[in-house]
Order: sequence, then structure tokens, then C-alpha cells
Amino acid sequence: MEKLLTYALKNGVLTHVLDVPNGKECGCLCPKCLEPLVAKANIKTEKYKKEPHFAHSSGSDCPGAYESALHLLAKKVLRETKQIQLPDFHFDYDIGNKDSLFNSLNIMDFEWVLEEQKVKTGEEYIVADVECRKGERKLFVEFAHTHFVDSDKKRKIKNGNFSL
Ligand SMILES: [Zn+2]
Repeated sequence: MEKLLTYALKNGVLTHVLDVPNGKECGCLCPKCLEPLVAKANIKTEKYKKEPHFAHSSGSDCPGAYESALHLLAKKVLRETKQIQLPDFHFDYDIGNKDSLFNSLNIMDFEWVLEEQKVKTGEEYIVADVECRKGERKLFVEFAHTHFVDSDKKRKIKNGNFSL
């Protein structure tokens, strides 16, 4: 199924296609390449079957625009709710780790949600998409759709003595 771009940046804020004027007047930019977009919020008809979406004014095909929008949207939700539901499965959960925050499907509330924080792990650094804090404990969140955390980043996190 084709993934339509339904969120774009308007004055730096992630905005839905139905919340802006239709056409070139939408004043939105692509969350990936920052090119101007056209809102195509047409009503579906027999001839026009697509759901409302944004297209690039230049007509360019922008791979990754959908994922960028999704990424920004996920961050916005986490920033606003300061809440996350932990996954049902932890691929390398260590029962002996008393610092672990993992508890299958537990909903966690945080006091702080910080974005793009540079974090020291041993002698190296990583930049986490989001760093959530609860007291002294930190949880790093990476949003993944098709691009997952690479092994190098994973290794750095493991060297950092965090509450995995
Ligand atoms: Zn683009």
C-alpha cells in the first residue's frame, strides 16, 4: 500500500493535512527535505481515490518523507504525554539487572522527556532520539520504522551502565 504523507511542517510545527488550506496555500514544508508541499485534501470521488495527503510542489519523489513525519509525530506524542508503554518482550533482558526498568507492557510515566540528548557512554557518545527521566533513572527511546538502532550504537549503550 502506498504510504501517503499526511503530516508536514507548518512554521516548524507538525501539522495534519486537513488543518491547513488546500493546495499551494498550505504553507507546509516536507519534514524530510524541507521542500515546499502542496496539500491535496480533495474529497474522494470515483475518479480521485486517494486520501488527503501532501505532495512536493516540485513533483519530486521523496523517499523517507513518510518515515520522517512518523518519527516527528512519535516524538511529539511522547513529549506531550511523557508516557510510554514498554514492549511485551525484551530481546536480551537480564533478570539479574536490578536497575532494569523492564516490566512487560508496563506503562511508565516520566518527569522529563528530552530530545536529541548527547549521552556519554564510557568514553564515547551517542545521541538518543529521546531520553526519558524518572528520578535518577533514564530510559532511551529510539523510534524505528525501517531504520533500527545499529550494532555500534547498541554496543555503546551497553558500555554505559544504563537501566536497560
Ligand atoms: Zn521531501
